[in-house]
Amino acid sequence: MNRSETIFDKSSPGKIGIGLPKIKTDVSRYIPGKFLRKTSPILPEITESEVVRHYISLSNKNYHIDKGLYPLGSCTMKYNPKINERLAGLDGFSNLHPYQPESTVQGALRLMYELGALLAELSGMDEVTLQPAAGAHGEFTSLLMIRAYHTKNGNPREIVVFPDSAHGTNPASAAMAGYKPLQIKSDGRGMVDLSVLKEAMSDKVAAFMLTNPNTLGLFDTNILKIAEIVHSVGAQFYMDGANLNAIVGRVKPGENGFDIIHFNLHKTFSAPHGGGGPGAGGLGYKEHLSPFAPIPIIAKKNEQYYFDDNRPDSIGKVHTFYGNFANLVRGYVYIRQLGLEGLRAVSENAVINANYIKEKLRNYYEIPYDHPCMHEFVLSGNRQKAFGIRTLDMAKRLMDYGFHPPTVYFPLIVGEAMMIETTETESKEELDRFIEAMIKISEESEKKPDIVKSAPHNTPVGRLDEGKAARELVVKWSPRK
Ligand SMILES: *Cc1c(COP(=O)(O)O)cnc(C)c1O
Repeated sequence: MNRSETIFDKSSPGKIGIGLPKIKTDVSRYIPGKFLRKTSPILPEITESEVVRHYISLSNKNYHIDKGLYPLGSCTMKYNPKINERLAGLDGFSNLHPYQPESTVQGALRLMYELGALLAELSGMDEVTLQPAAGAHGEFTSLLMIRAYHTKNGNPREIVVFPDSAHGTNPASAAMAGYKPLQIKSDGRGMVDLSVLKEAMSDKVAAFMLTNPNTLGLFDTNILKIAEIVHSVGAQFYMDGANLNAIVGRVKPGENGFDIIHFNLHKTFSAPHGGGGPGAGGLGYKEHLSPFAPIPIIAKKNEQYYFDDNRPDSIGKVHTFYGNFANLVRGYVYIRQLGLEGLRAVSENAVINANYIKEKLRNYYEIPYDHPCMHEFVLSGNRQKAFGIRTLDMAKRLMDYGFHPPTVYFPLIVGEAMMIETTETESKEELDRFIEAMIKISEESEKKPDIVKSAPHNTPVGRLDEGKAARELVVKWSPRK
């Protein structure tokens, strides 16, 4: 395998990409001697056009949402409208300093205040904090709030319950907040088993965490009964809001009985998150939890916006300053741009797209929990396993057809799982191309298994050792010998 040329490999002495004026002052007068360089830094010498071509070519080697469909179930990898970037980049937003006085950042505070109000309205909650940096951080923050709430009532309680279809962050957040995570088995339909839930509930349970629709793409039809069971022992009902894209503008989780929910602005509200972030993960909660929310809360009095720090029972801060502000701008623009009508169309089209693909793939792949789905669905690669093909092989083969693989081996309750979510932003033609590739791969698995097992063949690099990059991380450049 050829190592790609780095920008240093393209360097040669004397090439210049940018002209800087000569410095007339002797800077060593201002910088203490111990901080002055003894040798020149190693920098590539390269022309401007070579720089541009180098990075464009790198971005083309990578796969990204601006290049093609990204059907990662549970992740909601939707197209990021370019107007979001334009507005997040406005001088008045991008050049703020977090220590500026409130009076000089009224516009930014107003944006956060209004975004909070919009999210509260959409989720049916009483108040919103925008501090958490992502979904998992929102879970952790929520559980700290729930702990503070129970403590105030005399006992922090011990256990946090979640179903076996939950995202791994749920038990992890519970453990980090000092709770014992307790997993319960779903019923045959992949939903919460009411009798199992009842059995798990006691006055030791601090909260029940539920993703709805769940990671199988199914909306729990017993949601109101579940809320009743959870509340009957005084526990809090937490919604993992990662799948909000399926119901946004149509269902208010607050009206389903949830006490608190996290938002993933980078999933539902289109802030980019390919490559791991940064995201933004606000929280919506009911009034009884509001005294414990992280400070400051953005408040408004006499037409002035300000940071409200006056919450004696607050869990404190969970993020430097107020959260990932640029992503808050993106989420705000997205919501304002679409309006309620537009958001309702988002969830409708996301659901229709998922059901369309599921039906088209029905004859080729096993569908373990076979109900009309919401925004995503889960296939099993069990049929192809009979030919010695694993889901991992098929995921790699999809890259040869120009698609990012779906989420694989999750949720854990489905063997050889492939979790597919194309979102609302893909056209029918693009969905058809994806379906065609999936059908082709299922045929190849039977007739030409070797080509699937050794995939990918058309990508800049072939099959990689899955663990090597994590175990032998090399981030430092060194000159080629
Ligand atoms: C993405 C996701 C999370 C975690 O959210 P992050 O923003 O990635 O931290 C939690 N639960 C589910 C179901 C998810 O899909």
